[in-house]
Amino acid sequence: MPPCRVREDGGKEKLYAASLSGGKDSTAMLLRLVEEGWPLAFVMFCDTGLEFPQMYEHVGRLEKELPVPDSPYADKPGMSWAGPKNRWCTSMLKTAVINKYLSGLRKRYEVVQYIGIAADEPQRVKEYRYPLVEWGMTEKDCLAYCYERGYDWGGLYRLFDRVSCWCCPLQGLEELRTLRREFPELWEQLLEWEAQTWRNFRKDFSVEELEIRFRFEEERVREGKRIRGKEFFRELRERIREHG
Ligand code: SF4
Repeated sequence: MPPCRVREDGGKEKLYAASLSGGKDSTAMLLRLVEEGWPLAFVMFCDTGLEFPQMYEHVGRLEKELPVPDSPYADKPGMSWAGPKNRWCTSMLKTAVINKYLSGLRKRYEVVQYIGIAADEPQRVKEYRYPLVEWGMTEKDCLAYCYERGYDWGGLYRLFDRVSCWCCPLQGLEELRTLRREFPELWEQLLEWEAQTWRNFRKDFSVEELEIRFRFEEERVREGKRIRGKEFFRELRERIREHG
C-alpha cells in the first residue's frame, strides 16, 4: 500500500481518503490512484441499500481486489422518495454519513478527500481533490479505463448512461422503461413501495401510472402505432382514468 498519512509543514498529518460511489468515474479514480501509488488511507462507500445487485457485486469485487473497508450504513425509515429539491437520500445517506465519519478524524488529521468527478463534469467544490480532473479523464475515458481492467458491472453501463440508485425518481422515462424491462423484480418492488408511501413518485406519473403507460406503449408498438402525440396521450389519460 502507498503511504496514507503524510506530515507536511509541521502541521497536522494529512490523511487521504477516496469517496467511492461504485460508478465508472469513482471506480476509475480508485483504480488509478492505487495503480499509481497515490497516498490513500481508506475508501468510503456509502451504502444506500438501493444500488443494483450488479453494483454490490462490483463493489464486493473491488473490496476483494483492492482493500476497500466497509462503510457505515444508515437506514432511514419514514422517509419518502427524493425530489429534485429534496435529495434527503444524497445528503443524509451519503454526505452526512461521510462528514460524520470524517469529523472525528479531522481533529487529528488534515483529511484530503479524493472525489471522482470527471474532467468534463461541471460541479466542483474547493475543499476536495479531483484526481480525474488532474488527469484530464472524461466520463468516457473512465468507462474505457474500467473496461480495460475487466470491470463491467455485469453490463449495467450498456443499459444505462448513468448508474445510481435503481429506484431514483429523478431518472428519466427511458431509464425507467429499461428498469421495468430488464429488472422486473426491482420494478415490482417499486410498485410495492409506492403503495406504502404518501408521496408521488414523480410529478407527472406515479409508478402505477407508469406501469399503465409502459403497458399501453407496448400494445401500441405491437399494433404499429406511435407512442407520442395527441392521440397517444388522450388514450393514455383515459386508461389511467379507467384504472383509478
Ligand atoms: S440516485 Fe436518486 S435516490 Fe439515489 S441518492 Fe441520488 S437522488 Fe437519492
